[in-house]
Amino acid sequence: MNGVGIVDKIWIGHATNQTIRLNSSSGGIVTGSLVALLESGFIDGAVVNVADPTFVPNGKSILAKTMDELMQSSKSIYCMTEISRGLNVARYDDDIKRIAVVGLPCQISKLRRMLDEDDAMRRKVVICFGIMCGHNMQSVATVKALEESGINVVDVKKVTYRAHGWYPFNYAVEMNNGMIKDFAWAGSPLQKMWDSLKYMPSICKRCSDFAAESADIACCDAWLDRYRGTQEGYSIVLTHTKLGTDVIEDLIHKNALKLESGTADDLYRSNYLQIDRKLAIKEMRNE
Ligand SMILES: Cc1cc2nc3c(=O)[nH]c(=O)nc-3n(C[C@H](O)[C@H](O)[C@H](O)COP(=O)(O)OP(=O)(O)OC[C@H]3O[C@@H](n4cnc5c(N)ncnc54)[C@H](O)[C@@H]3O)c2cc1C
Ligand code: SF4
Repeated sequence: MNGVGIVDKIWIGHATNQTIRLNSSSGGIVTGSLVALLESGFIDGAVVNVADPTFVPNGKSILAKTMDELMQSSKSIYCMTEISRGLNVARYDDDIKRIAVVGLPCQISKLRRMLDEDDAMRRKVVICFGIMCGHNMQSVATVKALEESGINVVDVKKVTYRAHGWYPFNYAVEMNNGMIKDFAWAGSPLQKMWDSLKYMPSICKRCSDFAAESADIACCDAWLDRYRGTQEGYSIVLTHTKLGTDVIEDLIHKNALKLESGTADDLYRSNYLQIDRKLAIKEMRNE
């Protein structure tokens, strides 16, 4: 299939653990896999993103070393983030020998370039999970969407971009006074900001990588008609490397993931707007 890099296998499904699945963005594949890999000793930790308490629209990376920390990192953060902080923690922790890294396609491709010249970190990073990405938005978009809902960002403790439900889903705003304001994504100020592309970072305008082509394993939502109205999430999982395929097949075998075979057509139908837009950028850039 054009526009998504080298594809070894494609599946559709979710984490077997229902708590993980319901606490995640889509089917909980990323968190379900990381928890199982941590428990089996395949990794000592994972670089993941959590909400940044110092400025609530943002995320920040951590090195998660426990199941609790991994559960805190579930769910998508709809703004530009970083993975360098978590990577640096892993670099200088001698007890950490093997890590997974989760990142957006741009973060994983940059990481691979860095690892080419960094033997110590190349030995530590044993698997990369990519979050397939149509586009992103600047955090000012969240601030403005909150304003449109009558909320001042300084009164907010936490924004959960994928709070509950899946297709459709809600986002939630936890106020400093403990009150939680819940919004259906569809028709909300935040959805309008997201879809308008007005606050899309300039790097995203030039980005041709939807499927995290440099990752071993990549995940996205299975936005397919047959799942519409489903509150429990489904993900599409694809592997770009043999290592990615071996890891996913082992996780299926160990009952951490419940996956059935998917097709390139499933992937295309679930995200054709994003794939076509990035394919056009690839063609324009002769990639
Ligand atoms: C900016 C953005 C754009 C996306 N665009 C699309 C799209 O166009 N189509 C589509 O189908 N899916 C898209 N996704 C992916 C989708 O929302 C889910 O993240 C994906 O399906 C994985 O779901 P999961 O339940 O397996 O992950 P979970 O188990 O919920 O875990 C999510 C993982 O992603 C990490 N993460 C979350 N946000 C970020 C971030 N901003 N930067 C780096 N790491 C992060 C978390 O640390 C966590 O490890 C996008 C996600 C993001 C963050
Ligand atoms: S669209 Fe590309 S550059 Fe923008 S966040 Fe997604 S992967 Fe990164």
